[in-house]
Amino acid sequence: MRPQHTAPDNRAMHFPRNPDLHCHSLFSDGTLAPAQLAQRAAAAGVDLWALTDHDTIAGLYDAQQAASAAGVAYLTGSELSTTWHDVTVHIVGLGVDPGNAALAAGIDGVRASRTPRAREMARLVERETGADGAFEGALRHAGNPQLIARPHFARFLVERGICRSSSEAFQRFLATGRPCFVPQQWATLEQAIGWIRTAGGMAVMAHPGKYPFSASQRSKLFEQFTALGGEGVEVVQSAHNTEDMRIYTGIARRFGLFASRGSDFHSPSESRINLGALPPLPDGLRGVWEALEGRILWPQ
Ligand code: AMP
Ligand code: MN
Ligand code: MN
Ligand code: MN
Repeated sequence: MRPQHTAPDNRAMHFPRNPDLHCHSLFSDGTLAPAQLAQRAAAAGVDLWALTDHDTIAGLYDAQQAASAAGVAYLTGSELSTTWHDVTVHIVGLGVDPGNAALAAGIDGVRASRTPRAREMARLVERETGADGAFEGALRHAGNPQLIARPHFARFLVERGICRSSSEAFQRFLATGRPCFVPQQWATLEQAIGWIRTAGGMAVMAHPGKYPFSASQRSKLFEQFTALGGEGVEVVQSAHNTEDMRIYTGIARRFGLFASRGSDFHSPSESRINLGALPPLPDGLRGVWEALEGRILWPQ
C-alpha cells in the first residue's frame, strides 16, 4: 500500500530533542489525568508529547489543552489492541483526527469487548484468590468505566493484600497463560491500520520487542504490517533493551519505517522509567515526527 506520510525534503522543521510518543492516562490504564501527564512531561524536558490511551481517544481534548498550557508540542494518539496469529499486538496511531467517525466507531467496537472480558477475569480472580467483589474492585480503579484492563485487576489484588505489587499480580495471575488470563480477539491488524489511516494518522508498531515471535514470524508480521499501510515502529521504548533497539533499528531500515520513541509511562509508582527518560533514536533513522510535522501542534 502506498505510504501516506513522506518526510519533507526541506529539513527546516524543529527537531524535537526529547520526544515521548507513548503513555497512558486514567482514560485507560494509567493513574494520572492527561493534564498531570502533560505537566510531568514538560517538567521532564519532553518537547513533543502524545497521549496514547488504549482503545480510546476520550482523553485527547484534555491532553491537547494541557500540552498547550504546559508549552509542549503535541500529537494526537491512541494505542489499539489487535490480534495477530492469536497474539495481542498493539498498534499506536499518531496524528489521527479525533473527530474521524470511522476511527471512533472502530475503537468503540474494540472497547465494547472489554466489559464481558472483565466479568470473566473477575470470575477467575475470585476463583483463584478467594477475593470477593473483583469486578467492582477493578472498576473502582478504572478512571473510565468502559475500559477495564488487566492493570485495574492488578491494583485491586495489591489493595486486597493478595499481591505486593502490580508486577507480582501479573506474574502470578494476569500475564498470558497465567490462571486469570482471558484470551481475547481484538481488532485485526488490517482494521486497526485502516482506521488509523482513514483518520489521517500513522500506524506505528508498538513495543515489538515484547512479542513472543521468532525471527521469521517477526519478518512476517512486519511484511504484513507494511503491506497494510503501517509506516512506523517503536525502536526506543521502555520495554526494549539494547539488543531490541538494534533489532528494530534493522527492521526500520529494512522495511523503510519511521522510528518512534516512547516511555509507555503508566504510573509514578508502577512505571520503571519516567516520561522522556529514554535513550536517543539511533543514528540514521527518520523519526515519525519528520513525517507528521503537519499534524504537530506547536506551543504558542
Ligand atoms: P489489557 O489490555 O487489559 O490486556 O492490559 C494490558 C496492559 O497490562 C498493558 O498495556 C500493560 O499496561 C499491562 N501489562 C501487561 N503485561 C504486564 C506485566 N507483565 N507487568 C505489568 N503490567 C503489564
Ligand atoms: Mn497499558
Ligand atoms: Mn502496549
Ligand atoms: Mn502502552
